[in-house]
Amino acid sequence: MKVTMDKLVALCKSRGFIFAGSDIYGGFANTWDYGPVGVELYNNIKKAWWQKFVTESENNFGLDCAILMNPKVWEASGHLAGFSDPLMDCRACKSRCRADDLVEAYAAKHKMTVPVASMDNDALSAFVAEHKLPCPVCGKSDFTPVKKFNLMFKTFQGVTEDSVSTCYLRPETAQGIFVNFKNVTRSARARVPFGICQIGKSFRNEITPGNFIFRLREFEQMEMEFFCKPDTDLEWFEYWKNYCFEFLQKLGIKKENLRIRDHDKAELSFYSKATSDFEYLFPFGWGELWGIADRTDYDLKKHAEFSGEKLDYTDPVTGETYVPYVVEPSLGTGRALLAVLCDAYDEEQLEKETRTVMRFAPAIAPYKAAVLPLQKALSERADHLYRAMRKRGITCTYDLPGSIGKRYRRQDEIGTPFCITVDFDTEPTGTVTVRERDSMSQIRIDESKVADYIIDNCKLD
Ligand code: ATP
Repeated sequence: MKVTMDKLVALCKSRGFIFAGSDIYGGFANTWDYGPVGVELYNNIKKAWWQKFVTESENNFGLDCAILMNPKVWEASGHLAGFSDPLMDCRACKSRCRADDLVEAYAAKHKMTVPVASMDNDALSAFVAEHKLPCPVCGKSDFTPVKKFNLMFKTFQGVTEDSVSTCYLRPETAQGIFVNFKNVTRSARARVPFGICQIGKSFRNEITPGNFIFRLREFEQMEMEFFCKPDTDLEWFEYWKNYCFEFLQKLGIKKENLRIRDHDKAELSFYSKATSDFEYLFPFGWGELWGIADRTDYDLKKHAEFSGEKLDYTDPVTGETYVPYVVEPSLGTGRALLAVLCDAYDEEQLEKETRTVMRFAPAIAPYKAAVLPLQKALSERADHLYRAMRKRGITCTYDLPGSIGKRYRRQDEIGTPFCITVDFDTEPTGTVTVRERDSMSQIRIDESKVADYIIDNCKLD
């Protein structure tokens, strides 16, 4: 079943996945906080990515860079000059919108082929005027000329607010990786091909944030820069594209809700040989989930030029020296989480009721198990088991009040794959019941083996 955004947002709030940011102050536009259940899911997605891209990918290394970087980095990367959206203001209602988005939507609606990505401000302004595009807020067609608006958050280091102390919150984590190329290659004795991976916050002063956590101004990215020999880049591009596709399925994202969109020549960045977006069918339509780009040797060469440091690589076997090419898969953690939530949500009609169940892949489910004493009198034994499970590193929860049926429903709504019930047979037999979330089937397991059972059944394959 397809969940609506309204239902999802309501469940996220009531069950502790995601709250509005600064809630008691009436919120703060487009900021969201992960609650006790949400943060477990969020961290599990990051852990799964780290496991697949770093721990299990033996040629890859991890990194964690500072958010504030020398402003020269953004000069070299082109972000200071070119990281901007074409904006225009509606003269009637004063709202601001992206000209390229409006033109794209108009072209799609009228089945026109328009090279939006390569249109400059004047061309966009001319198109808007010629076709009398209406303001999405008030419907009037009276826009100011299109202007570029830089998306980087500017701030100041130290006490004076002058150009000397100006710095930026990073708009992507990738540049920190390029800047550390030499440090990592030397310290880790990394041999091409290898990847450097990082998870971290990025900031973009997006003009049209929204759709819950889909587009935010503060978000987290999971990025890898994979350095390879020139001319092997397109092969690696295909390799990582397949790897990423499989990874999304391991997170429980359904194949039928994914599509890969290859950028055509007009859309490709001038330095890129190939770029593909994984798109997901969100309740509000298809949206980019994961961008994969062959960035050639552009970034390393730019940083070499601006820093004066040599950023090439000498093959220790052949002695050949070259600047490696780069393949970059870049995934937003929040977007991945939103897709996971959408695909996990299900409503199942039972005999007397509808149960809402989040069918998360067990490896990323917020809680792996819930320990439930059938009655209060059994709580001491249940408590003991609960603590022992936590000591084994299993993220689990405990629920005492309410009928057992109600307690199962609560766990279904937060996607707990296993409910362990301590009942009156536990004392004489040393066993507990384990109820599986999706099938609702129950088995009896030796109490001493239940932790291993949960660990075995919650592995990321
Ligand atoms: P979009 O076209 O949606 O603006 P983009 O092409 O600018 O995205 P990239 O710069 O390729 O995005 O960033 C890589 C990934 O980071 C995206 O695929 C997405 O998952 C995530 N991402 C980018 N911008 C945002 C944002 N404002 N909020 C949340 N996640 C984002």
